[in-house]
Amino acid sequence: MINVKVDMSQCQHYGQCVLEAPSVFELNAKDRLEYVAQVADDEREAIEDAIDICPMQAISMVQ
Ligand code: SF4
Repeated sequence: MINVKVDMSQCQHYGQCVLEAPSVFELNAKDRLEYVAQVADDEREAIEDAIDICPMQAISMVQ
């Protein structure tokens, strides 16, 4: 399993991560980011892409 963490004090809710890993990140009805904190290993590449694209460098993961 991969533990995903978003620093919500940095996140600006732009949603780029949602495009890269839609099964992990989503914008809710109020356009606020929500995410799954524990995901399967096969999401690793998508999460790495989300980490790379996040303009606030708010996403991290630990295995
Ligand atoms: S890309 Fe980064 S700043 Fe944008 S919603 Fe995702 S975590 Fe937040």
